Amino acid sequence: MSEARKIAETAIADVVNDLRGIVGAAHVFTGASDMSAYLTDWTKHYFGMAIAVVRPADVQQVSAIVKLCGAAGIAIVPQGGNTGLAGGGVPSAARPSIVLSLSRMTTIRELHEAGRTVVAEAGVVLEILKDHASAHGLLFPLSFGAKGSCTIGGNLATNAGGSNVVRYGNTGELCLGIEAVLPDGSIFNGLTGLRKDNTGYDLKDLLIGAEGTLGIITAAVFKLSPQPLTQVTAFLSMASVDAALHALNLIQDRTGQSVEAFEYLPQPVLSAIGKAFPALKSPLQGPVETGVLLEVGSSRVSDARTDEAGANHLTSELLILFEELMESGDMIDAVVAQSEQQRADLWHMRESVLESIMAYGPSYHFDISLPLARISGFLEAMDASAAALGFETLTIGHLGDGNLHYALVSQDQDTWNALPLEEAKARAFDLLKQLNGSFSAEHGIGQSKLDVMRALKEPAQLDAMRAIKRALDPQDIMNPGRLIPTAE
Ligand SMILES: Cc1cc2nc3c(=O)[nH]c(=O)nc-3n(C[C@H](O)[C@H](O)[C@H](O)COP(=O)(O)OP(=O)(O)OC[C@H]3O[C@@H](n4cnc5c(N)ncnc54)[C@H](O)[C@@H]3O)c2cc1C
Repeated sequence: MSEARKIAETAIADVVNDLRGIVGAAHVFTGASDMSAYLTDWTKHYFGMAIAVVRPADVQQVSAIVKLCGAAGIAIVPQGGNTGLAGGGVPSAARPSIVLSLSRMTTIRELHEAGRTVVAEAGVVLEILKDHASAHGLLFPLSFGAKGSCTIGGNLATNAGGSNVVRYGNTGELCLGIEAVLPDGSIFNGLTGLRKDNTGYDLKDLLIGAEGTLGIITAAVFKLSPQPLTQVTAFLSMASVDAALHALNLIQDRTGQSVEAFEYLPQPVLSAIGKAFPALKSPLQGPVETGVLLEVGSSRVSDARTDEAGANHLTSELLILFEELMESGDMIDAVVAQSEQQRADLWHMRESVLESIMAYGPSYHFDISLPLARISGFLEAMDASAAALGFETLTIGHLGDGNLHYALVSQDQDTWNALPLEEAKARAFDLLKQLNGSFSAEHGIGQSKLDVMRALKEPAQLDAMRAIKRALDPQDIMNPGRLIPTAE
């Protein structure tokens, strides 16, 4: 062993000992089996290496870890629930790194019913925060399939979206402030909960969506909304995507902008769900051209009032509109959930989509967004291109936000290996550019989309991002090699 290597290994052993001193020996993992779950991403495409996984208990410990690693030149990769889909939460083998897991920072510090805000630590699992708000008669609206495992720190770091953005916005829009540890170890306390604070550059907005490259979010204050008094959940078969978007506008107009979810689930996806999970039956008889899972919620007492037949006002309004849409030919069929169980079944189906597509066969997933008026144009052109190149496609999406999860798939590995994936990606990205779309709507860049980021992000924006990163993290210790591609 060379002298330099011996010194490096001694230095690393010293750092690991110091980490144990900060968080306690029980919260520093160094064995391969203890670390393996932290070093493999959810998609099982990325496998990392680390000198240790460290689990601090509070913001002071996070600060001490960052100072220690900064002094030793060791990279830090923050990790929440490790459900990210871009490979951003696992360290690269290129540098000695630690995984800093927020999994012990799970305190919900306070909930103000009058101010309708909640302060929670970064490691709180999304579903737990939702349940906590609900127990106080309030709603934390962020929701998607990984809600039982992802954390609010990860949600902020990726600016996660999900199914309710159409009404409530993405994670960043729900956040009123954060507490964070910056790359020099200083603690930034921005948990004021202010709704207005024009005092210059907003660090909160820099750290949201930064995927751990500018610091570690340790807590956040979020806005809460009233719980809907009544909700209507329905599965619609629409004549086309344009007909669905026309219906979305009408539903918004008639219900005072109360659409909470408008999720695209066409027939090929329903078939893939049925194949992976035979118990999850398609909600409608016969093939569905353009399926939409619709949820409308209202906290107005008048919408929750029931008539003599037992139907509430919101449901009656929507049924009238559905009849009109059927008469105009925009809607082909619809089923309205009649019970909480039927509602849960519809959502279970929606939240099983990603696993169903992964079970279908090898796949490549685009997470794109488009102006609403250009979605059908993209689908028509890209479906034709993909078919001509030999791919099958499975497309779902948060249609109300113009966000499509467009997957190129094949049923077996040999066929997939022979398909021109790079050509299909180039066609999709060209099309997106022509239509003013984005190549990353909500899952982030991580390590999976660095090449696309380099090719398609405006050079002026990339240069500004690099300058901000250099200014805040001159040693490049915070999640290096993720989000920002190196300059060539
Ligand atoms: C079944 C399924 C469905 C999904 N559906 C959606 C969806 O509809 N919409 C959507 O947006 N996403 C979706 N995702 C992706 C994923 O759940 C989100 O990106 C989520 O926000 C990640 O949270 P996490 O705690 O798991 O973060 P992780 O995976 O642990 O980390 C993600 C990134 O954030 C960084 N990070 C984590 N915690 C912190 C912190 N405290 N401070 C700074 N940086 C941090 C990591 O370094 C990494 O770069 C889905 C994932 C799955 C598996």
